[in-house]
Amino acid sequence: MTTLEDLVNPGILSLTPYEPGKPIDELAREQGFTPDQICKLASNENPLGPSPLALQALQEALPHIHLYPDGAGRLLREAIARHHDLSVENVVLGNGSNEIIEFLFHVFVLPRTHEALCSRHAFAVYRLMAQLFDAPCRETPDPEFRHDLTAMRKSIGPNTRLIFLTSPNNPTGTRIPNRELEEFVRAAPAHAVVALDEAYIDFLDDPPPSVAWVREGKNVVLLRTFSKMQGLAGLRIGYALAPAPIASLLQRARQPFNTNLLAQAAAVAALEDHEHREKTRQIVRAGRIRLEESFARQGLPFVPSSANFVMVRVGNGDALFHSLLRHGWIIRPLKSYGLAEWVRVTIGTPEQVTRFLEIFPTALQETAAAPDSTGR
Ligand SMILES: *Cc1c(COP(=O)(O)O)cnc(C)c1O
Repeated sequence: MTTLEDLVNPGILSLTPYEPGKPIDELAREQGFTPDQICKLASNENPLGPSPLALQALQEALPHIHLYPDGAGRLLREAIARHHDLSVENVVLGNGSNEIIEFLFHVFVLPRTHEALCSRHAFAVYRLMAQLFDAPCRETPDPEFRHDLTAMRKSIGPNTRLIFLTSPNNPTGTRIPNRELEEFVRAAPAHAVVALDEAYIDFLDDPPPSVAWVREGKNVVLLRTFSKMQGLAGLRIGYALAPAPIASLLQRARQPFNTNLLAQAAAVAALEDHEHREKTRQIVRAGRIRLEESFARQGLPFVPSSANFVMVRVGNGDALFHSLLRHGWIIRPLKSYGLAEWVRVTIGTPEQVTRFLEIFPTALQETAAAPDSTGR
């Protein structure tokens, strides 16, 4: 007899779906909190909220949502191109930059034939997408949670089509030094595309000159998003910057109206909101120092971060996660990354950081009684 499983594509059966940060409303329902009693430091969202210029643009766009969006996203792509001094042919829009990851697989990876490459503890979506396409995603070790580009170079095989580099990386917060990154991109083989995920590039004081590599026509695709710095995660809008021949291939993989009218309008405005960007940078920098100093004082190992979150080793990450939930705080346990002893904390507003550092030792103490995650 034919079972449902016989009908299913092979990658689907073994796929464990992405585990997102716990939504505020869900915790409110479960624990009897009102949503405003809850603080979410789980998904690296902007604690200042969306760019005010984006909110204004949304107001102006709202009466027009009976119309289809511009499928080509011309205005936003032109704005992005101007912003980076590129041409509109270099820009591809995605329903979040995560959708661009999917385009990359559609364009370059044949199931059971080609493979992707990424660093251990890199962002989970590359592996998920590889599995969906029934293609292996090879992982290289990451000593001290850093990309080992020498190991990655050696791991490139004849069937490698996509090489994912994430800088700064999520969930580790580590970055690739600019010089190393440049050498890697320049030496990359012609048969593989380097997908450089720069979701957190706006938090770097000295970002790499990656846009120049696009201009030079290297085999590189930069992944950018409006979800983090610009505070538009709920709208789902991101983009790729790539040499025109690669960008035009990626365009073929997308649905006709993959990004919506509101997201396009908000993103155009957010792109030029320098004030919101500077404010966010400042509070993230200050909050990161306070979190890291506090973890150091408590003798907790943490990974020095280049982004808007910090990864810290707490013993039993799940237990701490649940303990904090009871106090109305959502952070991110990292068991799904094979890091059961660690959690990731997004940097909040100064007030949130203060209150978090007050509750944190209490919550940590509550977990001391729980058996630690390694079973020891
Ligand atoms: C948050 C994040 C993204 C952004 O995803 P969107 O789909 O644009 O919201 C991409 N890459 C990494 C590493 C991230 O952490």
